[in-house]
Amino acid sequence: MAHQTQAKTFEVERIRKDFPILNREVNGYPLVYFDNAATSQTPQQVIDAIADYYSNYNANIHRGVHSLSQEATDKYEQARIKIQQHFNAGKAHEIIFTSGTTHGINLVASGFSGFLKEGDEVIVSAMEHHSNIVPWQMLCERTGAKLKVIPMDQKGELIYAEFEKLLSAKARLVFVNHVSNALGTVNPIKDIIQKSHAVGAAVLVDGAQAAPHIKADVQDLDVDFYVVSAHKMCGPTGVGILYGKEEWLEKLPPYQGGGEMIATVSFEGTTYAGLPHKFEAGTPNICGGIAFGAALDYMNGLGFDEIAAYEHELLEYATRKLKEIEGMKIYGEAAEKTAVISFNIEGLHPYDIGTLLDKMGIAVRTGHHCAQPVMDFFKIPGTVRASFSFYNTFEEIGRFVEGVKKAKMMLQ
Ligand SMILES: *Cc1c(COP(=O)(O)O)cnc(C)c1O
Repeated sequence: MAHQTQAKTFEVERIRKDFPILNREVNGYPLVYFDNAATSQTPQQVIDAIADYYSNYNANIHRGVHSLSQEATDKYEQARIKIQQHFNAGKAHEIIFTSGTTHGINLVASGFSGFLKEGDEVIVSAMEHHSNIVPWQMLCERTGAKLKVIPMDQKGELIYAEFEKLLSAKARLVFVNHVSNALGTVNPIKDIIQKSHAVGAAVLVDGAQAAPHIKADVQDLDVDFYVVSAHKMCGPTGVGILYGKEEWLEKLPPYQGGGEMIATVSFEGTTYAGLPHKFEAGTPNICGGIAFGAALDYMNGLGFDEIAAYEHELLEYATRKLKEIEGMKIYGEAAEKTAVISFNIEGLHPYDIGTLLDKMGIAVRTGHHCAQPVMDFFKIPGTVRASFSFYNTFEEIGRFVEGVKKAKMMLQ
């Protein structure tokens, strides 16, 4: 098969050896892990970084005079710089450590409360994750601003002409994901950012689903805020970052009060610490931040262009094979998409397909994927979603397609 020649240059078999979990069996079969859009697996290099932290220099940061504390602080701040370089942020203090994408979005949504008034408009896209809808609805409730929605079409692409109609002097904020987790659509965010800025609106991009596949350059994009989670890109859960332009981060009020985020405290009043500490109250996920840095080292070692090219081959192969199955309906056929396939088979419930696949050792997600508006648009309760990573193989896709066929036979 032609794809194997190119796949070989990617050395997927060598890469798989870095992931201990890929050796395990599930229900008597070797695991096929196709739920990467929910969380990715963790390479030994990242597991080692976590073990090294707890084995050798576990200490609280920015506080102690002792050596361990200084070592932990140095490693944590080095991780911040790695992340800064990865996303090409101009300054290290524009990278705020968070507990993940959801936290980053809430931080910005909460911070904007004081900047919006009744009659202002905030624009979201029709294909957002719930974590990029609910905080903005809450913001609108607090401020009286109106939520407007960029619609999408049957292919799962945003309708650009409608977006342009929504842009007016009333538009203050635009929120859009870089890649849809439910459909895999890659949105033209650079253009969206330019057009939004032209009417004076700030833009937050949810990069959670893009970051594992596409290396975003926040300066080139000229994005105001960009949020990601480490656990979707080979890092641990419970850590992520918010990139914010310095001028915005200076303007926004702190999100939480506590230790680390202050300069001076008295009962008469408190002055806040400078960036990034203003937004990092309390003891952070120190080990998680360091491990996030290790995850970026690992992925950059493989190369994001190489990762994207290989995953694209997996996507094309799986799409072609699935389409051979009668009654197959794939949701999300955007011209540009990441390796996510959401589908249903006529007459069958996604949950039943997912359950039978699990019996064969194949992990997929079923349900609304935290994107109910997308499901409502297609008038379905949910889909089966298979999402691929660079450590997946064509053989695994073969097993998956056979599994879907078998499930179909059993259920019909
Ligand atoms: C996973 C995901 C989120 C939420 O990330 P958390 O790590 O759960 O905070 C938000 N948006 C998109 C597009 C996602 O894929």
